[in-house]
Amino acid sequence: MSNIYDVLVIGSGPGGYVAAIRAAQLGLNTACVDKWKNSKDKTVYGGTCLNVGCIPSKALLESSYNYERATHHFAAHGVLVDNVTVDLAVMQKRKEKIVNTLVSGIDGLFKKNKITALKGSATIASIGDICEVTITENGTTETVQAKNLIIATGSVPRSIPPAPIDNKNIVDNEGALAFDSLPKKLGVIGAGVIGLELGSVWNRLGSDVRVLEALPDFLAAADTDIAKEAGKLFKKQGLAIETGATVTQAKNTGKQVAVKWEKNGETHSETFDKLIVAVGRAPYTDGLNADGAGLAMERGFITVDEQCRTRFANVFAIGDVVRGPMLAHKAEDEGSMVAELIAGQKPEIEYDCIPWVIYTHPEIAWVGKTEQELNAAGIDYRKGAFPFLANGRARGLGETDGMVKMLAAADDDRILGVHILGAGASDLIAEGVLAMEMGAASEDIARTCHAHPTLAEAFREAALAVDKRAIHI
Ligand code: FAD
Ligand code: AMP
Repeated sequence: MSNIYDVLVIGSGPGGYVAAIRAAQLGLNTACVDKWKNSKDKTVYGGTCLNVGCIPSKALLESSYNYERATHHFAAHGVLVDNVTVDLAVMQKRKEKIVNTLVSGIDGLFKKNKITALKGSATIASIGDICEVTITENGTTETVQAKNLIIATGSVPRSIPPAPIDNKNIVDNEGALAFDSLPKKLGVIGAGVIGLELGSVWNRLGSDVRVLEALPDFLAAADTDIAKEAGKLFKKQGLAIETGATVTQAKNTGKQVAVKWEKNGETHSETFDKLIVAVGRAPYTDGLNADGAGLAMERGFITVDEQCRTRFANVFAIGDVVRGPMLAHKAEDEGSMVAELIAGQKPEIEYDCIPWVIYTHPEIAWVGKTEQELNAAGIDYRKGAFPFLANGRARGLGETDGMVKMLAAADDDRILGVHILGAGASDLIAEGVLAMEMGAASEDIARTCHAHPTLAEAFREAALAVDKRAIHI
């Protein structure tokens, strides 16, 4: 126990590894510990995002969309391909290679930044001017001391009693990303971000997918116009989404899963080959001794203030284990902020400017307030919308579904929300985020030159439409 670190980061997901890199950049003597074991029993960094979340899901979304294009869209371009088949083993290998490359990239970044990479399960022994944390790996325990702690222990899949996960037939995100054969009939519980993305992957590859969602409204968190339009498009793609359907039982019958759900007081049942449970994620603090060390907790989350500080001045918590959206980029931003706070800087996060993205096809992305939120808050606004159907580039791409919708304050024209349904929405939303972060008005966007022909022109047209002067509609 010779070294006293300036900063010990517990967890190396996007929150933890970014916090560690930023702290090291600022000259702080930093260590980061993780206990994640991959399928080869090797401890790896990168957390949920790199190992079983954002990265592998986007790899499979891309592969499955390529298949969808080859089978359904190429012919319209005059590109005729026969006998298109899927080699799932190759697809999964590609996904694994991407994950392994990025995960080993974290090792490289830790080395480059002279971060001490520790392996094992961390338990907070004591919090004081010098904090003590024990780290246990393969039966051996060592104690590490640090002046500041950053807790970034993330989250795990939530489960519901009627559908216990066995990761064989009833699976969480990890199992759903690793199927080695195509389930003929696939059930998905939960039409949230993860349920829709994973449902899309397997639907495109040929599974008959039914998504069961307890809430009466589809995508209640998104802007209503966008959610309605997306619902119609997903239905056209063959993704059966049943809202108001609460799953009450899921029985693994050996080869299949027998599922029961209630809708409008009636019981329905169906048998699936696989069932994905995607009912959200729960903050993870098992084995950390957060409670015992004196940290305040709320519904499993570690309680923090706006700056991610716990009730101890030198202990911070970030990412999925604290309040706010469970998103990788939110975790990353909190990681940087906390490292800078420890280094004596005065960073801030504008939580209203954190974008949301659902990587279905078309993609759904938004930032700021929805129309229903503005109405509920009694805020006066003007709105403009522009359909991709009227955008030249979208026509060329054959990606005419969806729209850009902009909401701006009625008094000073400040942009309050941007909502996009369409191809490339995940990248297009960055302009909305920047505009809001800079306090831009819709007129600022309307007066900004956008290259032609691009999908981004639809963004400008939506801004023009706020003032009822869109050019192409
Ligand atoms: P995590 O990434 O969960 O990392 C926490 C780390 O802490 C883990 O490695 C864990 O092993 C380690 N740990 C925990 N306890 C201890 C301990 N006691 N000792 C040592 N180590 C410990 N978000 C997006 O923004 N975009 C997406 O496209 C997206 N797609 C997703 C797709 C799926 C299928 C899933 C499941 C999630 C997705 N997310 C996405 C969410 C995103 O993965 C999380 O928001 C993000 O990983 C949270 O980062 P984190 O650093 O807080 O925690
Ligand atoms: P998210 O938190 O965005 O990942 O979404 C999870 C979704 O799962 C939410 O929309 C929940 O309403 C839904 N959900 C939770 N429990 C059930 C259940 N028993 N049956 C159907 N849907 C559920």
